[in-house]
Amino acid sequence: MIVRTRFAPSPTGFLHLGGARTALFSWAYARRFGGTFILRIEDTDLERSTPEAVQAIIDGMQWLGLQHDEGPFYQMRRMDRYREVIAQMLLDGTAYYCYSSPEEVEAMRERLRAAGEKPRYDGTWRPEPGKTLPPVPADRKPVVRFKNPLDGDVSWDDVVKGTITISNRELDDLVIARPDGTPTYNFCVAVDDWDMQVTHVIRGDDHVNNTPRQMNILRAIGAPVPLYGHLPMILGADGEKLSKRHGAVSVMEYPAEGYLPEAMLNYLARLGWSHGDDEVFSMEQFCEWFDLDHLSKSAAQFNPEKLQWLNNHYIKLADNTRLAELIRPAMLDRGAVFDGAPELAAAVALMKERAHTTLEIAEAAMLFYVEPQPEAALLTQHYTEAVKPALADFVQRCAGIEWSRAALAPMFKEVLAAHQLKMPHLAMPIRLMLTGQLHTPAIDAVLELFGRATVVSRLSKYL
Ligand code: GLU
Repeated sequence: MIVRTRFAPSPTGFLHLGGARTALFSWAYARRFGGTFILRIEDTDLERSTPEAVQAIIDGMQWLGLQHDEGPFYQMRRMDRYREVIAQMLLDGTAYYCYSSPEEVEAMRERLRAAGEKPRYDGTWRPEPGKTLPPVPADRKPVVRFKNPLDGDVSWDDVVKGTITISNRELDDLVIARPDGTPTYNFCVAVDDWDMQVTHVIRGDDHVNNTPRQMNILRAIGAPVPLYGHLPMILGADGEKLSKRHGAVSVMEYPAEGYLPEAMLNYLARLGWSHGDDEVFSMEQFCEWFDLDHLSKSAAQFNPEKLQWLNNHYIKLADNTRLAELIRPAMLDRGAVFDGAPELAAAVALMKERAHTTLEIAEAAMLFYVEPQPEAALLTQHYTEAVKPALADFVQRCAGIEWSRAALAPMFKEVLAAHQLKMPHLAMPIRLMLTGQLHTPAIDAVLELFGRATVVSRLSKYL
């Protein structure tokens, strides 16, 4: 069998973490088996669907690198196809026109509810052998209803949840076309999954209730039924449904906050799926490992600290030039001046080790790209009379030395020894003069990065 999976978001907001995980699992499954991953935009809810939301989905998937092989298919562009299938179903007798008004349908539901039964359409317009249908009311446009089987069960082996069985008695004769002829949600999904030859439907478990309806429709139209896997929701650390309170819910907030896509992917991969104790792995590895047997039945909990930890891991591995280009815009926003300043990639190398986000690198690296403005009080405190000759000596030695950390570190120590000072006595004022800050990376690294000319000119002002 050739594996064909799809991600079928409704473009009604942003791409949220749950959606991204669904996309990731569907993508990885197709990749693992050399199959096809399809992107389908379920945009039939005209009031809630927007082009911006479509773009947000595409941007999010692009950021994550979840490349689709087919699509995007837009349901709104497939209306003719849906109408064609509905016409065929009417011919085949698997669907029928229903002229009951919304009020009448509501009244039947009410009656059933009062009788303690599950509210459903009572089948007034459902044709049966030997049954006479009521006269067609004038001036009323019918809906089209699906002729759901009356008896028996719909059952499937959900790859996450195990066998699920629903009695057909629980299921209504679903409206598949509205009075204006537009098809409804579950019907479109069934036709699409058929036409797109989807073999594995991986989606959120908010769709479990739709599955038996879609399966019945698929069978009625003579389509094969795919395998279904319904992923439990992602919850916040407090066990509540994931929401804004728990941090960013939209995937595209993460690049803005300084997360790398590989960290997000690795993080999402472990939300509801496991491979032994493996926590850190590449997408290549994931695509080799990903299976449907190790999906968790219980809801996954979003853990921002773990995401940060992974982000730090991938930041440490990331190429410094790439990180530099990622943070440059944020640094420009903060007023960084790059002309004549140290190379940004070199500053990144110095700052990335402990950063949880690239924004933290940007913040930390700013000290190399702004004019230092040391506080006068701090200068008075750290640049004492005893230090002045040492600074002069230091600046003088700067002229003749090879400009490298390896040479600067021992020279720094020689100056300290010559003036009987300890490390902070000289390092603190130099830090202040060079950067305006007392906390910087190791002083020899900072000196090396600024370069001889900047160091000499900034320190000489105080001699
Ligand atoms: N459009 C649905 C959603 O965004 C997904 C439908 C499906 O995967 O079958 O929740």
